[in-house]
Amino acid sequence: MSKLTGKVAVVTGASKGIGAGIAKALAAEGASVVVNYASSKAGADAVVDAIITAGGKAVAVAGDVSKAADAERIVNTAVETYGRLDVLVNNSGVYSFAPIEEIDEAHFHRQFDINVLGLLLTTKAAAKHLGEGASIVNVSSVVTRITPAYTAVYSGTKGAVDAITSSLAKELGPRKIRVNAVNPGLIETEGTHAASVIGSDMESNVLAQTPLGRIGQPDDIARVVVFLASDDSRWITGEHLNASGGVR
Ligand code: NAP
Repeated sequence: MSKLTGKVAVVTGASKGIGAGIAKALAAEGASVVVNYASSKAGADAVVDAIITAGGKAVAVAGDVSKAADAERIVNTAVETYGRLDVLVNNSGVYSFAPIEEIDEAHFHRQFDINVLGLLLTTKAAAKHLGEGASIVNVSSVVTRITPAYTAVYSGTKGAVDAITSSLAKELGPRKIRVNAVNPGLIETEGTHAASVIGSDMESNVLAQTPLGRIGQPDDIARVVVFLASDDSRWITGEHLNASGGVR
């Protein structure tokens, strides 16, 4: 038996990057996976195809997690397609960095709306369907510990994710629903390439501080999410697990 046989998972922002890696890894362990995307239909379809080709089950669904109706539709796709929901991975996220002089309402709202409000709306929609043994995994970031300069807003969103994780673990624990965060260090993704982080001084600085001597890959995080989604972590809730090659 694989670790997630018979389970149904929703992964938000799974059309690329860390989310795509998580969706494939959950499916490889036997979960049926809802692959959410916001704009990259082709990316989500490619993830679904890869899962099906490998013998798994997956379906793609469009939706902006920061809109309540979309969050509901994403979650309902799992229940309508596969009849239940066991795992929610709140991975959708955006990041941009700016000095305090350049922070404005748009910079704040884009990141807080997707990274924080989106996580809450998706979790609210999912909570109705989750039962005993279910697991929610929030993709936070190591920035909540290392708080780099010029990341006040992004680090603020992930600080909120850590606090929400701790609070919801207490709220949902009596229903035997676990809530944990994984806090990645720098990971090479479409997003970190698009933001020109890969190849920048930021990448060299992170690399210099990384005891394991390399930048992370999506699968480094996906393996941790499989652990947190499965019964292997059945006694773990409310944790913020650094997965950063030792950066702290
Ligand atoms: P990415 O490559 O840019 O992928 C982001 C994903 O989020 C895409 O699938 C995107 O969908 C989706 N998304 C964006 N806005 C959305 C919305 N409103 N509703 C639903 N989905 C939305 O990013 P990544 O680097 O893999 O990062 C994934 C997560 O890990 C984020 O939460 C990020 O903060 C966190 N993280 C990343 C790193 C890193 O170094 N990469 C480190 C620590 C934490 P579309 O493509 O369809 O628009």
